[in-house]
Amino acid sequence: MSLNDWLTAAAQQRERHGLVRSLKPRDIDSDLLDLAGNDYLGLVRDARVTAAASSAAVAWGAGAGASRLVTGTLAVHSELEAALSALTGQPAALVHSTGYHANLSAVTALADADTLLISDAHIHASLVDACRLSRGTVQVVAHNDIDAVEQALSQRTQSRAMVLVESIYSVLGDRAPLPELAALCERFDAILLVDEAHGIGVAGGGRGLVHELDLAERDDIVVTMTLSKALGSQGGAVLGSPAVIDHLVNRARPFIYDTGLAPAATAAATEAIRIVQTEPARVERVNTVAAELAEAAGVEPVAGAVLSVPMAGPHEALAAQAEAARLGVRVGCFRPPSVPDGISRLRITATAGLDDEQLATACKVIQSVTQ
Ligand code: PMP
Repeated sequence: MSLNDWLTAAAQQRERHGLVRSLKPRDIDSDLLDLAGNDYLGLVRDARVTAAASSAAVAWGAGAGASRLVTGTLAVHSELEAALSALTGQPAALVHSTGYHANLSAVTALADADTLLISDAHIHASLVDACRLSRGTVQVVAHNDIDAVEQALSQRTQSRAMVLVESIYSVLGDRAPLPELAALCERFDAILLVDEAHGIGVAGGGRGLVHELDLAERDDIVVTMTLSKALGSQGGAVLGSPAVIDHLVNRARPFIYDTGLAPAATAAATEAIRIVQTEPARVERVNTVAAELAEAAGVEPVAGAVLSVPMAGPHEALAAQAEAARLGVRVGCFRPPSVPDGISRLRITATAGLDDEQLATACKVIQSVTQ
């Protein structure tokens, strides 16, 4: 079959199933209230964050210029790694150029052919890809099913195991049972990998769920995160023991063969962390906004900033999204294959950037399109 015939057949199939996606540039000064993004603390356009980005670009250049192990490790990277350690309470941190890379790095460097990877059914695509890229055996377990994790750990034939979860799930918005998982991993000598992409900056006073639950300094727990959500920048990081970070520096191909994170993004994230640490009201605000939006949408209170509202199907989800936009509010819409259980959803995110009047408008619109 020619490439063109194959592409046309794939496009027709997407059309038939209501799964067509396209890229639409966002207006720089759109009047829409944005409840679809991940700028949970309203820091993307904070003047202090953007000023830190521009000064670093002027001082260091537009790019890092090389991979980290060559000449691409700059003082801004070390400063950010120290700030990330201080924020999360983790002994060591390693900055990557995206959260996606951080997940690829952590899993491929820490798992081997003798490792069972026990993966929650709702983990992010980057962790799914990381499992595929590693040489381990993958076992997918039902979402938040602690008994299934225990069974997989106890029956494994591999000498090593890694359990992969998100602290707060990116689309469902619920939290993983971390204390129970941590206890199981300790009992069965397994690594617990927690992706805190949606926890850092929002949960645990901004320090993440792992810190809140007093799990930050455990050698068998590895945390990954992104700088692109609550911290308003771009990039990612792996956090853990100095031995884990040292191993990644030496063995993680997505880290070793990738150019260092751009100075602007690096310094912006460091400034965002300073703001998280000095402005607790911002973190409180995103949680208040999330609670009010959850009430308006008629869903259970959420653990972080993400609300998931199940819809009857992909067409209904798209229609509700369009109606919300017509009424002035941008919400996210997730349809298969982005949702492993096949349930189409609106994904609505809270941000500390909304004032009281904007929040009241948002709640009214959310209520009208979801109830
Ligand atoms: N993990 C999770 C849970 C995410 O939601 C995302 C972003 N969608 C990532 C990892 C990837 O992070 P980044 O966008 O920085 O690559």
